[in-house]
Amino acid sequence: MSRPLLPCLLAFALLAACQQQAPTPADPASPAAAPSAGVATDGNYAFHDAINADDFAQLVKTLSSDAFEGRGPGTPGGDKAVAYIQAQMQRIGLQPGNHGEWFQTVPMVETTADESTDLDIAIKGKPHVLKFGSDMVIGTRSGEPEINIKDSPLVFVGYGVDAPERNWNDYAGIDVKGKTVVMLVNDPGFHAHDDSLFEGKRMTYYGRWTYKYEEAARKGAAAAIIIHDAPGASYDWDVVKNSWSGAQYDLAAADDPAPRLPAQGWITGTIAKTLFADAGLDLDAMYKAANKRGFKAVPMDATLSLDLKSTIAKKSSRNVIGMLPGSTRPDEAVVYMAHWDHLGMHPGESGDNIYNGAVDNATGVAGILEVADAFAHQAPAPERSVLFIAATLEESGLLGSQYYVAHPSVPINKTAAVVNIDAMNVSGKTHDMTVVGMGSSQLEDLLKPIAEKQGRVLHAESHPEAGGYFRSDHFNFAKAGVPALYAGSGDDLVDGGKAAGEAAAKDYGQHRYHKPADEYDAATWKLDGTMQDLDAMYDVGREVAGSDQWPNWYKGNAFKAARDKMMSGEAGNTQ
Ligand SMILES: [Zn+2]
Repeated sequence: MSRPLLPCLLAFALLAACQQQAPTPADPASPAAAPSAGVATDGNYAFHDAINADDFAQLVKTLSSDAFEGRGPGTPGGDKAVAYIQAQMQRIGLQPGNHGEWFQTVPMVETTADESTDLDIAIKGKPHVLKFGSDMVIGTRSGEPEINIKDSPLVFVGYGVDAPERNWNDYAGIDVKGKTVVMLVNDPGFHAHDDSLFEGKRMTYYGRWTYKYEEAARKGAAAAIIIHDAPGASYDWDVVKNSWSGAQYDLAAADDPAPRLPAQGWITGTIAKTLFADAGLDLDAMYKAANKRGFKAVPMDATLSLDLKSTIAKKSSRNVIGMLPGSTRPDEAVVYMAHWDHLGMHPGESGDNIYNGAVDNATGVAGILEVADAFAHQAPAPERSVLFIAATLEESGLLGSQYYVAHPSVPINKTAAVVNIDAMNVSGKTHDMTVVGMGSSQLEDLLKPIAEKQGRVLHAESHPEAGGYFRSDHFNFAKAGVPALYAGSGDDLVDGGKAAGEAAAKDYGQHRYHKPADEYDAATWKLDGTMQDLDAMYDVGREVAGSDQWPNWYKGNAFKAARDKMMSGEAGNTQ
């Protein structure tokens, strides 16, 4: 999600924007696709054969230098980053990890909705015209330049959740094919303030708006509309409005196995209240009803009509994939990943307009390269293969990782575990580690004693209601069923304690996160904590790569069913 762990603790109001300020990826016909021949690994710098702070600093310094122009996908700087990462993987001794290739081209579709579009809702024959931006946002992920929906009946489906392992189905007993589903954000546990429902305050997968659209598409709906409320979404309407304006990025429908809705969007809470009242329904009462087990969907005496025009463009970028083949079970793999892309340059802005992305996420790329170095020099060599994916288009919506999961080099049912690194701590050693989405998988059972040996304790992120676990690349593996760890330093600094840690996080969130000032700074960066994190993440992967264990999700986790199914051989992606 390009949300660093530290600021997750404090500046989480920024959370929603993380994947949305997307740079514009290049046209596939541009020189973007040139190969990387002839790139020096890094001048005369002599790398060590282990996880090493100087090596890490050198990698970050280069990747976040102005010469790489903020690593926008499809820009010359982005291509330079891809070539540099490939050269480093080669220097370390990795092999090409994508069926004999270093690169994986990620085709994508850019959709820009015509924002003069209105949403027409007729309630008991009375028309309501909703305006783009102020009342609603609407878009399509279908790749279709024109979407026409005429008089589609509205149905209130509560939270729009079908969760068999929780025995909860908001779609029970109702057919929504061709209809427009209207639903609440987050999940019943959050709004009911009830720890016995879902996971209480902590957002589950079912609370994420992405899930809600996907479920509505599986049910055959024509459109899905989410009612905004700031506490439930964890951000204000402005964030929704801004992130749904302008270009939106998706994989081409052909590259993505999940069904898609013709149209999806949000309406403001104020508009929803009016529409419900006009339909003879009380929105507050609907919230209460939706929070109760056994909720039944409510057909509204209303219809939706939409004529949505969008500009569609096809573009592409590249993942870089290196592999260390396993010594005894090379067909099975542990995956380390970090997104290489950032926000590029913004030529229209005065002053420094290069978004260097040093913390976000040159640190993560440097991190997986350092871990690769440790694996490459490990004796005995890992039994399973270890895959290192520098993914693209994370900032555009986790697209590089989504494409990889749909087109994996090692089949998903042979992928034992995933460790994702997105924005590392550079403020020094900590007494703690933050596990985003703690309580998810058995990978935490491996991490716990490793962290304890370092004198560190594990804890969850401090705003679990924001659903941070669903906002970075590993999430695409999780959805497919592969247990994924997303962890890093906590905020209790050895030097200065929690106050200093929180101050550092706040400072980063306010002054550097997604800004040109996210730069490498030899004078202030303290890498001893970063090295501890890398040591811990290496150790977790080493355990899985050196064993025949198949870590799973904890009981009750939404992704466990997918894992169980693939491990039982019933299904599983065997591409
Ligand atoms: Zn990031």
